[in-house]
Amino acid sequence: MATAPTTLVFDIDDTLYDVACGFTTHRNSDAVYDFMVKDLGFESSAAAKALRDEYFARYHSTVKALTVAEAEGKLPEGACFDAAALSEWWATRLDFERYLKPDEALNESLRRSPLTLVAFTNGPRRYAARVLEALGLRDLFPDERLFAVEDVMPACKPEPAAFAAVLERVGATAEEAIMVEDSMKNIRAAKAIGMRTVLVRGRQGGDDASKAAAEATKPGDAPQEDDPAIDVVIDAANELEAALPCLWQTPAVWKPPAR
Ligand SMILES: [Mg+2]
Repeated sequence: MATAPTTLVFDIDDTLYDVACGFTTHRNSDAVYDFMVKDLGFESSAAAKALRDEYFARYHSTVKALTVAEAEGKLPEGACFDAAALSEWWATRLDFERYLKPDEALNESLRRSPLTLVAFTNGPRRYAARVLEALGLRDLFPDERLFAVEDVMPACKPEPAAFAAVLERVGATAEEAIMVEDSMKNIRAAKAIGMRTVLVRGRQGGDDASKAAAEATKPGDAPQEDDPAIDVVIDAANELEAALPCLWQTPAVWKPPAR
């Protein structure tokens, strides 16, 4: 018999809100390039973009990307990357409320979940808390169940050590936990350590230009629905309960629909 699930682990960006809503493009383009020009001394937004894209493709986290770029001597002369400064920059300068709105169906469903709810993002903590606040979900993910990149560095998703650190802190085994994610790299890594996986692929038939613009800021990580590492595919997080009503039963069981 399959191990009973106890814990739902949610990625935040492009998982708890739709990839096409415009927020990811807002965060991953001008907001981070401005930071790199003003705080790190890049000569132009284009130079900032080239470096950020190269390292983000490897790490899927801007904080880790800039940390490694600095260690490899790729930042402008004299630049000193401070993850807290980027966290502060994003938390105070992004227009959260313009793009992110509470999703009543998701909110209501998660409030009835019998499982332990955990948020695990490659973004920085203050930023992550602001996203959850704008989505009306902050109280569902209190500090001890919100994991940001600072909590798992020097690792970050998709490194197994990052997942292991989170699972240990919440007292769950990989087999008891379900990872809800939009990133294929993270889905594959979660599956490899024994977690169950749900891919959030983004709403279908919506604003394709916005979706493409957001995916372009995350090179090499677009959803691949036929990947064997995926147990369940949904379009949006608010479809989780309909796709897996077994997780809302008491006791919860793992009974995914056939793929
Ligand atoms: Mg994500």
